[in-house]
Formats: sequence, structure tokens, C-alpha cells
Amino acid sequence: MAKKKKKNTKSNQSDEFLKALPQNIIFIGEKGDEDKSIYISQATYKEIHKFSENKTEIECGGMLVGRVIEEFGKKNIIIHGFVEAKYSEGTPTTLKFTHETWEYVHAEIAKKYEGMKIVGWIHTHPNFGIFLSEYDKFIQTNFFSDENQIAFVVDPIQKTEGFYFWINEKIERCSGYYIFDRTGTKIDAADLLLKENGASEETGHKVPFVYPLAIGLLFACIAVLTCFCLSLNSKIVTLQKQQTALTDYADTALATMQQQLQAVFYQMQAQNRNAAVGTQTEESSETDPVEEESTEPVQSTEPVQTTGPAASEPNGSVETTSSNAPANE
Ligand SMILES: [Zn+2]
Repeated sequence: MAKKKKKNTKSNQSDEFLKALPQNIIFIGEKGDEDKSIYISQATYKEIHKFSENKTEIECGGMLVGRVIEEFGKKNIIIHGFVEAKYSEGTPTTLKFTHETWEYVHAEIAKKYEGMKIVGWIHTHPNFGIFLSEYDKFIQTNFFSDENQIAFVVDPIQKTEGFYFWINEKIERCSGYYIFDRTGTKIDAADLLLKENGASEETGHKVPFVYPLAIGLLFACIAVLTCFCLSLNSKIVTLQKQQTALTDYADTALATMQQQLQAVFYQMQAQNRNAAVGTQTEESSETDPVEEESTEPVQSTEPVQTTGPAASEPNGSVETTSSNAPANE
């Protein structure tokens, strides 16, 4: 019952895309100018990745089932399903389809994908990267020789993948492809792709550049930061030196100012002393007349007492003061 239901939904889904090209799509890789486009349904894409990741010891594979729609002179290879290549003989580096494989595959297509055909094949290269070996090309030429039959190679370990198609009778790598789903369904395989095609060679053109770029940027940032720290350090050292010089200068200036102040202080002290002496002398000069007044009579008496002209010479000063005294009088 469940199988029947599944079959019905799958056929309904394929009917939906029977008449026209899928509208709900995302593009992976780079747009090429080939006259062929590859579309893979989101469900098939996820199924193939799940299948590939479960078998990484040996090569494994299967058939891509779908149809080809021609529009505006362009061939559109639309993959709607995947049938595992059971009974195939896989080694870590080769994959051989047996008679049983083909029998099983045709029976499965007849059961699940009515009206559809094999549009190509998928096989894995566990940790070998994406390419077509001579043996792969032999298989392509002998079993998938139709001009619209493609090859899909997936490396589940390196997380890379790539499509190949016939261009001018040569099997060439396809530069980009579409993932589609029913209208209104979110194509979240893009998240998976970001992770996986992160290493894919198609979108992977970005990847080999992105990682070194990020590392380069990181190193550049570290270098800039180191330079900044060094220059900051040297600035700090310079500032410290300047600070020391300023402190020294300030100390010297202070000492000079102190000396100057001391000098001024001493000068003022000296001036004060002088002033004091001046006032003293003034006072004394002022008191002198009083004394002279009082002494004058005494002094005046002395000359009177001595009255000798011999005594007038040593007491000349006295005489002058005394001579002033009468003037004051
Ligand atoms: Zn191969």
C-alpha cells in the first residue's frame, strides 16, 4: 500500500513537470553557453547523497531516471529519480554493472517511473575527486551513448560532485545545473549544497579561494594587530620618556623657582632690614636734635668749659652738630 502511494505521488510529481520546465529552481555552479541544461529534483538529489554517504569503502552507483524537454532549441535533461545499481561489482576504484543490475534497474523503472527513461548514471569516487576515468568513459560510450545521457560523479568523502554531458560527441564537464522542486516547496538542498558544494569544483571555484582568502585575512589581521601593538608600545615608551623629561624639567623649574623665591625673600628681608635701619637712622636723626637739644647745653657748656682752640679740632664733628644745633634753634 505504502509503495503504491509512493508510486502515485512520484508519478504525479513527474506529471507536474511533464509539460513544462520546472519553475521552482535554484542554480548551482556557473552558467555555461552549452545548448544543454541539467535539472535534478530535490528529492533525487538528496536520495543520491544519502546513498553515496552510506557506502564509502567501495564505488557504488545507479541510474538517473527522467526525461528530456526541448525548449527554444535547448535540450533540458530533467532527472526525476534514481535507481540503485544493485548487483553491481564495486571495488574502491571501479564499478561494474552486471546483467542482474540491468534487469533490476529496468524492472524498477517500469514499476516506479512509468513513461520515463534512463537519462544517465551516477557513481561515486570515494575520496578520489571528480573526473571521468578511461573506464568511466568506456561505460559512458557503451551504455550511455545517447547525446542526452549524462554522468554524475559524487565524492562523498571530499564532498564534491560534478555532472558530465555529451558536447560535440565528447563527454565534457557541465559547469552548472539546477535543483528543482514542486512550486511552493522550499529548496533547502541549497543548505546541503553550501556545505557540500563548499568543496565542489563547480561552486567549488569559490572554495579553493575562500579558505586561503580567509586564512590570508586572518594572518593580515594578526599582522596588523601586531604592528598596532608594537607601535602602541613604542608610543607608550616615547610617552614615558616624555613624561620623565617633563618631570625632570618640572623639578628643575621648581628648584629654580624656589631659588628665585629664596633670593627674592632674602632681598626683601635685606630691604626690610635696610628699611628698618633707615627708619632707625631716621629715628635716630630725629632724636638727635632732641638729644642735642638736651646735650647741646652740656656740649655747649663743654666748649665753654674748655674754650681752648686746641680742643676744637678733635671735637670738630661735635662742633658741626653743635653748629647745626644753633641753626635748628
Ligand atoms: Zn569513475
